[in-house]
Amino acid sequence: GAQRESKVRVRAHFDYNPEVDPYIPCKEAGLAFQRGDILHIVSQDDSYWWQARRESERTARAGLIPSRALQERRIIHERTQREIVEGESKKGSCTSICSTPPGSPRLRSSSSTSSCRQPKTKKIMYDLTENDDFDRELIATYEEVAKLYPRPGIYRPVVLIGAPGVGRNELRRRLIARDPEKYRSPVPYTTRPMRTGEVAGREYIFVSREKMEADIEAGKFIEHGEYKGHLYGTSAESVKSIVNAGCVCLLSPHYQAIKALRTVQLKPFLIHIKPPEFDELKKTRTDSRAKSTFDESNARGFTDEEFTDMIKSSVRIDFLYGHFFDEEILNADLVTAFEKLVNIVQRVETEPLWAPSSWVQ
Ligand code: 5GP
Repeated sequence: GAQRESKVRVRAHFDYNPEVDPYIPCKEAGLAFQRGDILHIVSQDDSYWWQARRESERTARAGLIPSRALQERRIIHERTQREIVEGESKKGSCTSICSTPPGSPRLRSSSSTSSCRQPKTKKIMYDLTENDDFDRELIATYEEVAKLYPRPGIYRPVVLIGAPGVGRNELRRRLIARDPEKYRSPVPYTTRPMRTGEVAGREYIFVSREKMEADIEAGKFIEHGEYKGHLYGTSAESVKSIVNAGCVCLLSPHYQAIKALRTVQLKPFLIHIKPPEFDELKKTRTDSRAKSTFDESNARGFTDEEFTDMIKSSVRIDFLYGHFFDEEILNADLVTAFEKLVNIVQRVETEPLWAPSSWVQ
């Protein structure tokens, strides 16, 4: 009966197609879904097969989906198979790093953080670094979500993530220009010397290297980087002070900042700014009128290789962090992309939206 249904909602972190699942007891009873879909888990009575329907299809019959436990086992199983194959095809190749006796298969648990736990196939496809790799593997099942209600006067930070050059900074600037009282970005910190014409606290907050290194060590920065021998970064405190001032904090950091940002304290809303396909990307960024409006394109414009890199980088961000994004904006035509951004931030400010259930009290 309806009253026995659980209230659990999850966001799926993987695609599922019962048609090609060899384990499902009855393919017709399965529910297909895609990564990012919100699922209403109607029953978790069976430890392997949950019953669920997509949140967007409230009146549909519930279907079978793999339980978290089943999906986790499946991932571990697939990884183990892959590692056995690798172990056999690359005998002894990494003994110096992980001290595995030559020839023995490298069987590891899912929680292993060893530097040798590298699925080669993925590396080749996505050019992953070790850290990226680990991020991806931690999280491939379901995340429990609940509706997060907007609080009057307290806005969630809006984070624009995207490949370098895709235009996320330009979108951020346009939103601030549209309503500078409401939308603000934190002033970054730097260790480089102040230049003539700059004002302390306007372009940057200028600090010593010792101070900044200590603060980074203490976890006070949501992101930081080094450029030409100087440190740059954004502090969590400056995000909070914008939020506390009743403004919408806009951020456009490197995608590696996602994990530091995605906390219950900040409750950010994450948007992936994506490039269109190659031809359209080139067309929209090469057109002389468009060129001046895409900040990172600068005067010389982009080479074909840079367009290809932008697309590759976007695919990689999606592969690694796709399940964290609340929205996507395709930045082909900048005006259209900006309209969509305006629309989205309006919803974030006014509507209850799905967020990790641990963020909702
Ligand atoms: P400039 O020293 O010319 O003002 O900035 C040089 C570079 O520093 C920028 O192009 C950018 O790559 C980097 N930068 C500026 N602000 C930040 C920041 O908040 N975080 C990080 N990671 N890099 C920054």
